[in-house]
Amino acid sequence: MTDFSRRRFTQMVGGGAVVAASAGPLSHFAIAQGKGKVVVIGGGAGGATVAHNVKKSAPDLDVTLVEVQPQYTTCFFSNLYLGGFRTFESLTHGYDGLKGLGVNVVHDMATGVDTAKKTVTLAGGQTLSYDRLVLSPGIDFKYDSIEGYSPEAAEVMPHAWKAGPQTKLLKSKLEAMEDGGLVVLAPPDNPYRCPPGPYERMCMVAHYLKTNKPKSKLIILDPKTKFSKQPVFMEAVNKYYKDIVQVNLTNEIDNFAVVKVDTGTGEVTTKSGEKFTAAVANIIPNQKAGKIAFDAGCTEGDWCPVEAGTFLSTKVSDVYVLGDASVATQMPKSGFSANSQAKAVAAHIASVLGGKKLFPPRFRNTCWSLVAPNDSVKVGASYQAGEKDGKQMLVASGGFVSKVGEDAKMREEQFKESEGWYSGITADMFAKSA
Ligand SMILES: Cc1cc2nc3c(=O)[nH]c(=O)nc-3n(C[C@H](O)[C@H](O)[C@H](O)COP(=O)(O)OP(=O)(O)OC[C@H]3O[C@@H](n4cnc5c(N)ncnc54)[C@H](O)[C@@H]3O)c2cc1C
Repeated sequence: MTDFSRRRFTQMVGGGAVVAASAGPLSHFAIAQGKGKVVVIGGGAGGATVAHNVKKSAPDLDVTLVEVQPQYTTCFFSNLYLGGFRTFESLTHGYDGLKGLGVNVVHDMATGVDTAKKTVTLAGGQTLSYDRLVLSPGIDFKYDSIEGYSPEAAEVMPHAWKAGPQTKLLKSKLEAMEDGGLVVLAPPDNPYRCPPGPYERMCMVAHYLKTNKPKSKLIILDPKTKFSKQPVFMEAVNKYYKDIVQVNLTNEIDNFAVVKVDTGTGEVTTKSGEKFTAAVANIIPNQKAGKIAFDAGCTEGDWCPVEAGTFLSTKVSDVYVLGDASVATQMPKSGFSANSQAKAVAAHIASVLGGKKLFPPRFRNTCWSLVAPNDSVKVGASYQAGEKDGKQMLVASGGFVSKVGEDAKMREEQFKESEGWYSGITADMFAKSA
């Protein structure tokens, strides 16, 4: 990372959450326990950042990162790939930087957690023991929320909500579609990964159609009555994509939740019974925590409750859950949030196992969305552990959101800011230069 981007990125994520300053002599904690063992499951925005930051601040700890994929493709900026603003390669990252730091990176699927014995089993047969376990497995889909949808159906009607082959599939389907075709985009119901994501996708797909297949249409079938950054997304629709995009939000009369799909005919049916025949259907089902979080006994309902601030599971001991899988009220499920949470988790582990000094964590989030060339909007806030409405949570303060009618220069600056953030977060996740 260059000095400039490191400084900018550190400012963006919030300095207090970043460091667990060394308390040097207190390393008797690690000595008393032998070489503390940390196992992290999931090498994405949350898990890779934890592995990097624990190893950086407490190099004596034994850190193992279990990630099933050899390379990670970021969901963030994957909509820009659909719009033609990024290459797929620019979104894909390897783990050599973490390996070089001394993180033991194991590319395998974690299939079980024994929280009594404090062990993790891998599909390849290996068993790993831990003193502290970190789960950042991201999301899984509730396929049964839509009749006819399944992992097989997703090969015909991609969700592209986990980046990688699904993202490429959606792009190839858009490219193969004839000019004049109908694209259906079905966002999920709350809570889900990246609240503004479906609407950035709406703009990026619309931009692709406008510049490549201008006779085509894009219809949004939304189970919700409102969505994140709605005024500025609707401003973009009216300004850039009026003839292409139709947004259908659920209201008192119509329920636009997609309840059924037919991959043979391309038919998509809403709860109100309306039918659309899509040339390309992007169906994003409702979501829940990644499977390993259920296997580890960390879930309550679909997600994992955690202590506000430490991200320690409230269900099992010595296990942290962060990122999309956790209930981090009031923080949204985003890569920025996961990265910010990861620094607090890493600092906590470095303190508990490595004797480093611990500061009260502060958290931040900003979500940028590109709506058209050089036109980026954003939403964000800071968060601190506290009490609201009688509940412990991460209480938001200093929130901001883009406004309708903003100056074009400002929007262009925000796009540049988002590119700097992308370089910074991926450098921080994968321990590489930005
Ligand atoms: C289209 C789209 C656009 C987005 N844009 C933005 C944006 O602009 N800004 C932003 O901040 N966020 C954005 N997000 C959200 C962001 O991608 C997620 O919130 C973030 O990745 C969550 O991090 P995580 O660590 O919880 O999960 P992930 O990053 O998904 O990482 C989970 C990892 O765990 C691995 N894994 C899961 N289970 C196992 C197992 N049992 N064994 C081994 N490995 C396992 C997976 O392979 C995966 O690599 C976007 C999301 C989407 C879908």
